[in-house]
Amino acid sequence: MIPGAADAPPEFRSPPRAGEIAILGAGFAGLTAGSLLARSGAAVTIFEKDIAVGGLARTIERNGFRFDLGGHRFHTNNRRVETLFRQALDDDVLEVARSSKIFMNGRYFDYPWRPLGALRGFGVRGAAAIMFYYAAEQLRQYVRPPGISSFEDVIVSRFGRAMFDIFVKEYSEKVWGIKCHRIAAELAEWRIQNLSVGAAVRDALFPRSRGTVRSLARKFLYPPLGIGQVAEGLRRGIEESSRVLTGATVTGVHHSGGGIDSITVREGDRTGRHRADEFLSSIPLNRLVHLLDPKPPEEILAAADRLRFRDLVTVTIMIDRARVTDQSWIYLPERGIPFGRIHEPTNWSAKMAPEGKTLLVTEHFCFRGDDVWNADDEALAGTTIAGLESLGLIRGSEVIDSLVLRVPNAYPIFEIGYDGNRRKICDYLGSFKNLRVIGRGGMFQYFNMDHAMESGIAAADEIMAESTKSRSRRREETVLAEARP
Ligand SMILES: Cc1cc2nc3c(=O)[nH]c(=O)nc-3n(C[C@H](O)[C@H](O)[C@H](O)COP(=O)(O)OP(=O)(O)OC[C@H]3O[C@@H](n4cnc5c(N)ncnc54)[C@H](O)[C@@H]3O)c2cc1C
Repeated sequence: MIPGAADAPPEFRSPPRAGEIAILGAGFAGLTAGSLLARSGAAVTIFEKDIAVGGLARTIERNGFRFDLGGHRFHTNNRRVETLFRQALDDDVLEVARSSKIFMNGRYFDYPWRPLGALRGFGVRGAAAIMFYYAAEQLRQYVRPPGISSFEDVIVSRFGRAMFDIFVKEYSEKVWGIKCHRIAAELAEWRIQNLSVGAAVRDALFPRSRGTVRSLARKFLYPPLGIGQVAEGLRRGIEESSRVLTGATVTGVHHSGGGIDSITVREGDRTGRHRADEFLSSIPLNRLVHLLDPKPPEEILAAADRLRFRDLVTVTIMIDRARVTDQSWIYLPERGIPFGRIHEPTNWSAKMAPEGKTLLVTEHFCFRGDDVWNADDEALAGTTIAGLESLGLIRGSEVIDSLVLRVPNAYPIFEIGYDGNRRKICDYLGSFKNLRVIGRGGMFQYFNMDHAMESGIAAADEIMAESTKSRSRRREETVLAEARP
């Protein structure tokens, strides 16, 4: 923020420095872009509305207990991304074995699904039903290939109706908050990639083949003090030459002449304008549209209103016991259980709790403003503890403390038709010559942390390439001018 600019708009107190770059949001995408650009010598300012950096991938600390907002495992096949990740941690990285279960029908099943385990868990009749529906689906596809238009269509065609009904339907509807036939088919491709019954059987027999399918990866990288350590490391690097402002909410994005010229930023009770040459936005795409001044055409505003996010409430329970489970994650599809997923951070790094204690983080998927989001913290902690007791995981008397956090915009919802709206908005935003959108919510894409980092790298590379081009153009012009008689 320009110092003393609080009472300044619409005039600016100072012009931007040459090569000044403003980044909206200090999640993994914004911090990665900021880190590369700052290293290249650009003057970067990152504006983050929260008091901490990291966005969705941050770690909360309370009385020696640490936890992510839903455990964040890191996995990438991109060398450049892994190098940045490791550099941010000074190479102090844990390699954690992954082990996850689904709890249903009173028992635990392996996740990712293993057909043999599923067959054992559901007995001969259940197993027969799974095999029958799988065979029937294969035959149906052979005789009359079905039209594939939804997430449900893809899963049923690949695994059969019984597997879909048993393992996928309830959990997906709990996470996304809409029926599976309304979820776009792409989600299935992203979630399960080339996983099929055949691949799962091969995996059960020859586990080494797992490296190729992301959803089957056995190991992941994790920082000893939680995923937020990466964001803190990136922030430190940026601040060697540039700025990261937290508690700085962007409330307006002003444009003229086909480019963005400034943003309005609120810091506490001060509001001011910040100018820059380039703007990168990782804030939710629909929010960005509504911040534009002058306003975009009605159809762009309407497209933005049709993009929705699923929100999340995490309820963390601190426990007076060394360990409760031996799992990375436990998935809980059944509607009767108020949360959809649990993780125990001490299974990811022993440093996530004081010696001899542990914690369970439960994820309650919801929409902002619904009963879960609005429930008071004490009630949420109460139902969570009761839920964990009913699963046989803890006793109420072991609970030391609890913490409820509300996480807006956790998951872009890939409802059929979302892509048309997303493209319409991106085409419109593409008409601004100095604005780039990056990141998961910023691009409204199914991104994990590594993808968010990749999008930050791509945007930084583009800006650096353009600035190299324009520098050499300027050099050529100077040489020509000097050569003129
Ligand atoms: C429960 C959960 C579990 C996950 N688990 C994994 C996992 O195991 N592995 C994995 O790789 N990925 C995981 N992810 C996905 C991962 O969190 C995201 O891909 C990644 O963090 C996205 O980073 P980002 O920078 O694109 O967006 P964000 O982290 O959303 O960053 C955007 C930033 O913009 C800020 N902002 C918003 N509005 C404004 C404004 N007006 N002004 C200023 N700042 C603003 C926000 O506060 C935020 O900090 C998980 C996500 C969730 C929700």
